Amino acid sequence: MDNCIFCKIAFDQILTEKVYDDDEVCAFNDLNPQAPTHVLIIPKKHIASIDKLESEDSYLIGKLTMVAQKIAKDRGLDSGYRLVMNCNEDGGQTVFHIHMHLMGGRTFGWPAG
Ligand code: AMP
Ligand code: ZN
Repeated sequence: MDNCIFCKIAFDQILTEKVYDDDEVCAFNDLNPQAPTHVLIIPKKHIASIDKLESEDSYLIGKLTMVAQKIAKDRGLDSGYRLVMNCNEDGGQTVFHIHMHLMGGRTFGWPAG
């Protein structure tokens, strides 16, 4: 989609080092990391928010999680990590192309503020 920064990253119109890349999903480091590991995992299909998911997209959401698990294993995050998907304004979403945050390398509290 035009004017979507994550579509541009996904299709290499903005060059960003990928930490994972295949036909459907890619992952790259967050520009403003909140933890020693802070990776964003996105589908290449433009879906604006969790709110806009269709049932046919279920597989992609599962795949984001499996890619997160792979990156976490590769980085030795065996003591734990956090996966976050923010939805719309009240959920703290700022980029409207769905993405999963994988954060690790520190301890996280709960509930998040
Ligand atoms: P959210 O607030 O859940 O929508 O998360 C958006 C995330 O995208 C934030 O953590 C930003 O730091 C990150 N971000 C925005 N632009 C870029 C970019 N060009 N490359 C990497 N991360 C980005
Ligand atoms: Zn997009």
